[in-house]
Amino acid sequence: MTADRDPRTDLKGMTLPEMESFFTRWGKERYRARQVSRWVYRKYVEDFDMMTDLSREFRGVLSEVCRISASGAERVEVSADGTEKYLFRLGDGESVESVLIPDEDRRTLCISSQVGCALACGFCATGAMGFRRNMTSAEIIHQACFAARRLAGRGELLSNVVFMGMGEPLRNAAEVSRAIEILLSQYGFVLPGKRVTVSTAGILPEMAAMAERFPVSFAVSVNAPRDEIRSLLMPVNRKYPLRELIAAMRRIPLQSGRKVTAEYVLLQGVNDAPGDAEALARLLQGARIKVNLIPFNPHEEAAYRAPSREAVDRFRTVLLSAGIQTITRERRGGDIRAACGQLRAACGGKRG
Ligand code: SF4
Repeated sequence: MTADRDPRTDLKGMTLPEMESFFTRWGKERYRARQVSRWVYRKYVEDFDMMTDLSREFRGVLSEVCRISASGAERVEVSADGTEKYLFRLGDGESVESVLIPDEDRRTLCISSQVGCALACGFCATGAMGFRRNMTSAEIIHQACFAARRLAGRGELLSNVVFMGMGEPLRNAAEVSRAIEILLSQYGFVLPGKRVTVSTAGILPEMAAMAERFPVSFAVSVNAPRDEIRSLLMPVNRKYPLRELIAAMRRIPLQSGRKVTAEYVLLQGVNDAPGDAEALARLLQGARIKVNLIPFNPHEEAAYRAPSREAVDRFRTVLLSAGIQTITRERRGGDIRAACGQLRAACGGKRG
């Protein structure tokens, strides 16, 4: 994905203000940044020679000092239902995955923000691999450039981006914020905030800061109605327990008609009883929160089992009767282990 030993400055991953200050410090005109950023983020161009509104001479100077890291995927797999999974090799040999999910008029890209993850959620295969490193904004935005360019080639548009791939995005908030700015901006992907979703295990200070800064959507992994169970599944609960988590979710500023999503991975015999659904309904009562039920999708390292169909339906019925908007997430791309699931190698269970 990146040629890390290349001494030239990588423009990919820079926001427009960052690019402007880079050009200004370099003694070039500020408006150059807007020209270049549009080529990189609107047209997904990675070769200065293709930037036809720049003079040949300036393109030559640019390519001596700067580069735009290229965004080819090492492997692309396409599922029978149209879901696509991309494997990206990073400059240091690490790899991450993204999944593109087509659904009627939507084209949703599930992207990664870290290599591995330190939060060690018990049902998650990414958690099992441990934390390797944070991704740079270039590596994060690269996933969107690759998918958008591929879609553009067939006359389609990238419509949604979800940070539900590998990693906890709010543990890499600075780089993720730069990527989000590019996704939302006019010089970038021009995505409405409601179409960019940050999925988090609930890192509360960063969640509040991100919600203040960007009008993005939030999907928070709740996964249990009681601290004993949640701490067992998600060690981060010891730092940010349920009561504080739900209170923080209630404080997220929302435009009218929008809700925060509570993600709930159903695990057989752990958190899928009707009593758990009732306790969850009490926790969420009166909040602008909807629930996404995710029947666990077992992966190799998993110590948990998938819930029965009846348990899933019963859980959903309890929440619906309490007036809580609830959907059960349908599994996509199962034949290529892409269920935004085996992705977080985890979402294996988490995003099944
Ligand atoms: S579920 Fe998310 S936060 Fe938890 S270990 Fe997996 S990637 Fe990390």
